[in-house]
Amino acid sequence: MAKIDKKVGELERLGPEKREVLVLGVEALGFDELPLEKKVLAYYLYRAAIAGDSIMYMQSHRDALEIKQLLEAVVTHSNGLPDRVRTAIHNHLKLIWIHHGQYHHYNHTKFVPIDLTIDDLREAVRIAVNNGAAIKTRPGENVTEKLDRLERSIFDSDFEPIQTNQSEGEDIVATSAVNFWDPDVTNADLEKLPPEWRSKLNVRFSKKDGKIIPEEYRIGGLYGRELETVSHFLRLALPYTESPEQKAAIESLLEYYLTGDENLFREHSIHWLKSDTEIDFLNGFIEQYKDPRGIIGNFEANVSFVSESTLLNRLAENAQYFEKRMPWPDRYKRERIPKPVANVVNVIIETGDAGPVSPAAYNLPNYNDIRRDYGSKNVVLLNIENTRSQKIFEQSVNEFFLPEYRENVLRYGNTTARPLEVYMHEIIGHGSGRPDPSIKSDPRTVLGRAYSALEECRADLVALYHISDPKLAESGAFKKAEQRNVVETLYITYLQGWLSRYDRLQDLEVREAHNIGSQVILMYLVENGGDPNKDYGVDVIEKDGDYFIKIRDFEKAREGCGHLLGTLQVIKSTGDQEAAYRLFDRFGTKVNPKWKSNITARKEKLNLPKMKAFVFPHLKPVIENGEIADVEIHHDENLTAQMLRFSRLQHETDIEAD
Ligand SMILES: [Zn+2]
Repeated sequence: MAKIDKKVGELERLGPEKREVLVLGVEALGFDELPLEKKVLAYYLYRAAIAGDSIMYMQSHRDALEIKQLLEAVVTHSNGLPDRVRTAIHNHLKLIWIHHGQYHHYNHTKFVPIDLTIDDLREAVRIAVNNGAAIKTRPGENVTEKLDRLERSIFDSDFEPIQTNQSEGEDIVATSAVNFWDPDVTNADLEKLPPEWRSKLNVRFSKKDGKIIPEEYRIGGLYGRELETVSHFLRLALPYTESPEQKAAIESLLEYYLTGDENLFREHSIHWLKSDTEIDFLNGFIEQYKDPRGIIGNFEANVSFVSESTLLNRLAENAQYFEKRMPWPDRYKRERIPKPVANVVNVIIETGDAGPVSPAAYNLPNYNDIRRDYGSKNVVLLNIENTRSQKIFEQSVNEFFLPEYRENVLRYGNTTARPLEVYMHEIIGHGSGRPDPSIKSDPRTVLGRAYSALEECRADLVALYHISDPKLAESGAFKKAEQRNVVETLYITYLQGWLSRYDRLQDLEVREAHNIGSQVILMYLVENGGDPNKDYGVDVIEKDGDYFIKIRDFEKAREGCGHLLGTLQVIKSTGDQEAAYRLFDRFGTKVNPKWKSNITARKEKLNLPKMKAFVFPHLKPVIENGEIADVEIHHDENLTAQMLRFSRLQHETDIEAD
């Protein structure tokens, strides 16, 4: 039999002129060598991850799952459909899969099909039905009426244009199309609710006769069917857990899905952060980026296994050392930091909010009091970080960096500076600092729309500030003689890297938390913190009509980062909402239109995709006498095959049907 080529690395490019998304196949080297029990554990957690994926569509927009299912039905029953229409629908569906609906994952704005009309879609649906596609409609509704109902959500970019609106002075609840509430729910409605509902992680708000009705995410409640299937696989995983902590983590998660009681998720989070196992997972309503208030969590899940973690562990061992050297008052420093659990892992799957668009790393849980009392767990996703196109990297460096930086960036950018940025952000960044003892409320609630961005900004600054510490060379991060090159590379790649991503912004406003954090750092340095007597050594210069970051003085840039970092920590520790809004509105939201159009034009010239999405390995159980005798790992799917398989398996509990 001919050996099938592994689908890893660049698989396809999507979007207008193939410039929107680079789809990469991820390899999970080392899975084959795991003992059987761990493979079985990973497999059940993998199925639990797939079973929850559709929740993310439902949370994204009230029509998103229906749109996905409709387009899947068309694409899988397209016999007799003109090629032009089939291609247009399939291309749109790929983007819907990647973003979990019709809103862009990062900038939260709506996208619509290209080269496709509602009449094309009506005809395609008619053909699909003739070909045997089962298209679910609401009671009393026919397929035509269903299309009428969905038309504006699919085709009209002015209809509910923003998923998560955090613009100052607007009703951020009423103007956000995210399905965390009915379309007519307003900020004032939510503010009238008792605090336990207002601050709840796993809830949606509907409105009937002017009254707000909270709907909990739980079995028997909202998303009950999906959570039941997730729980089925979590229960199957239980006997294979590696440690009592991991077992307790799954047990409390099961109780939480059954009851909707967020205290059980808090309990789960504590067991989870303490469990330092070879196979690890995420499963739950976790990140809060799509709630403009930063409170309701999106479903996400993943499964991973540990890879080489030495450097990460050395940083974790030194968390207290760095805390002592933070540029903020001692009373906001943590006195005893238990060594954070820190792992470099290879992911096997990511679903919901975590994939196909993946973070590079995470530091969880998000609960500040749990982080203070128990610490947190840091996970860096090695195979996600390492899956890239080298050609694209070199092209970008030559286009966007001033000549004097290129050699260092090519040499240290991906191998040293970027991994350290990620490690330090996660390990010593998010976990650092503590609230003022007189502040009783969670800074997340007090700081409102600025919280997520402040937290990402703070963690990035910790990396920028401490990269020049001698401890890093001692820990083996790089040779002592290379430190200066690495420091300079990190500063220039961070700042220029962000400026070169301006083309991803939908308009002149920055909306996503990590992006706002980067914009604040860039503009704070360029504008010297708004203080005419300061100089932080960073300029955006024009050369032959193109804009570049020029760092005149790295010492001064570091001083600026230290000053901003200290300011942010005081804001966080004291819950100073006004200062947070002032700082973020001043530096973090508006971009210079000239810089943006220049970056966009240069990106267009290079024809580079704006973002990455991943296709994960395909786990297949080998079943003998009704039991799993082995779990094979394959890299045989493209994006379409993977997403159609996820849809097929969504409610499936029989593993022999896999
Ligand atoms: Zn972060």
